[in-house]
Amino acid sequence: MDVSRNRRRIFKGRIVLQLTRIGSITASGVVYKLNIVEYWRCELNNECNSGFLSQRSCLVTLCFLASQSFSSVIFAQKTIDVPEPAPVEARNEGSGPYNRLILRGAYMIDGTGAPAQGPVDIVVENDRITEVKVVGAPKLAIDSGKRPVATEGTEEIDLSGMFVLPGFVDTHLHLHTMESGQKVPPEYVLKLWLAHGITSGRTVGSDNTRWMIETARRSARNEITGPRMEVYPMFNTSSLGLAPANTPDEAREHIRLMKKLGATGVKFIGAPEDILNAALDEAGKQGLNSTMHHAQIAVMHSNVLSTSAAGLKSMEHWYGLPEAMFEDQLIQRYPTDYIYQDEQNRFSEAGRLWQQTAKPGSDKWNSVMNTLLERDFGMSPTFNAYVATRDLMRQARAKWHEDYTYPGLWEYYRPNRDAHGSYWFYWTLEDEIDWKNNYKIWMQFVNDYKNRGGRVTVGSDSGYTYNLYGFGYIEGLELLREAGFSSLEVIHSATLQGARQLWIDDDVGSIQVGKKADFVVVRENPLQNLSVLRGTGVIKLNDETGEVERVGGIVYTIKDGIVYDAKKLLRDVREMVQVDKDRLGIPPGPMPIETVPSDK
Ligand SMILES: [Zn+2]
Repeated sequence: MDVSRNRRRIFKGRIVLQLTRIGSITASGVVYKLNIVEYWRCELNNECNSGFLSQRSCLVTLCFLASQSFSSVIFAQKTIDVPEPAPVEARNEGSGPYNRLILRGAYMIDGTGAPAQGPVDIVVENDRITEVKVVGAPKLAIDSGKRPVATEGTEEIDLSGMFVLPGFVDTHLHLHTMESGQKVPPEYVLKLWLAHGITSGRTVGSDNTRWMIETARRSARNEITGPRMEVYPMFNTSSLGLAPANTPDEAREHIRLMKKLGATGVKFIGAPEDILNAALDEAGKQGLNSTMHHAQIAVMHSNVLSTSAAGLKSMEHWYGLPEAMFEDQLIQRYPTDYIYQDEQNRFSEAGRLWQQTAKPGSDKWNSVMNTLLERDFGMSPTFNAYVATRDLMRQARAKWHEDYTYPGLWEYYRPNRDAHGSYWFYWTLEDEIDWKNNYKIWMQFVNDYKNRGGRVTVGSDSGYTYNLYGFGYIEGLELLREAGFSSLEVIHSATLQGARQLWIDDDVGSIQVGKKADFVVVRENPLQNLSVLRGTGVIKLNDETGEVERVGGIVYTIKDGIVYDAKKLLRDVREMVQVDKDRLGIPPGPMPIETVPSDK
């Protein structure tokens, strides 16, 4: 298609029209497309509402006017209705921020990769760290004369013997709602995230971008209980309220609208090559960050090498990476009866992909890795999002489902051809073994990438595949440990590396004077056992009493100097789940997977 001319004009000072000639002169005239480029701005500040009967009538009128004027074939970029979830409830939790707050006596893991230090006292004024002071050595009494002084009105929290870390960054969030397939209250999701130490993150796709951005703004102002969120709308989905982009110009409009609405990045997924490249180019021009799920339907023209060359900043999951390293084939080997929309096909064959690519350490493996390193390309592997594929029973029966999984979410997880990620139609041992082997090679790539200086972050992608909000993030840490990261390297990925990936490391990601007062506090040493960060803790025999106990779970999550009792957040979540189970007549405890529960 020949896009030869763009013209813009102001219409009544309120709407910018863009006329794009999209065809050559024919007997019937010149083919033009009419786009309403700045309609949303009007709608957002509410000034224009009185001038229009409705959005739809406005469009009809404009099309009519345009067709009268140009006597040619006119296409208007259509808007579509997107359901808007209810606003998230106002914040009722947390204390602070304080004029002056001192966290006393904890051991500090600062996120930079430095070993644990302390005991330290950390002084916070309002939402910022103003002093970090080592005040002694382990097992020695602390000389109180050397500690920061509590002036009048100072709040002090005794964290003696506990561990303090920077707030965690989650690079792959979806804030589901009662309107999503998961049918969960967003407050439930937000509390689970915060209770697991996630104080910052990016949402990489939601049903309604404007609602998501408004929710993120409210969280930034601490009007709601939840992490601060960078919003990366998913490119070319209905969430913007625009019809799909089918030309490069329309793709650019989608990106410009995201920027205008307040997004800070774009989440890409497979698209036709010219559409994707125009959108990537526009994202760069608009100064937007970016990441991508390299969907198999488009990976022939868009693998990690081509997209990173076009300016993409990071990748989600792993698709697009093995395909960039094929040596003996051009296309993934699919069974002949494979259909992408059959999710058992899609996910079981995905588990056989790493075995088809270049061997670890081979020239091809190294050259692809080196190219990505040169481009400072980030990886958000979301290891925990696929962990059910290698042991479905373990993941579906994880301890936390008993009290923390909302009935609507449980229903969504169950085998279902109509729900994304619920592909357990007949998940076999063969699938699990192939996935276990798939993980070994995939983990080796990610670990090598980190060892050679690459940026690897933690993204949880919860709300699918028996992967529960918050708990899934901690599984993500555990799986990086399994991939070969040390515990300190895992914490580094979860904090400073995540902040760098989101371009927010000036403010968060490490414990440093001047940065935001975002912390995770836990009683046990997470370097010794990252699993203590799970909300359900871990099992431990108490040798003094002979009792078997649960220990662990985050004690405090602190965001912007506001102190949240993480155990209280979890109690709230358990109560929300129980209330909904009562409503539905579901007994407490684990819910069945099968339609007719087995008595075996
Ligand atoms: Zn996702």
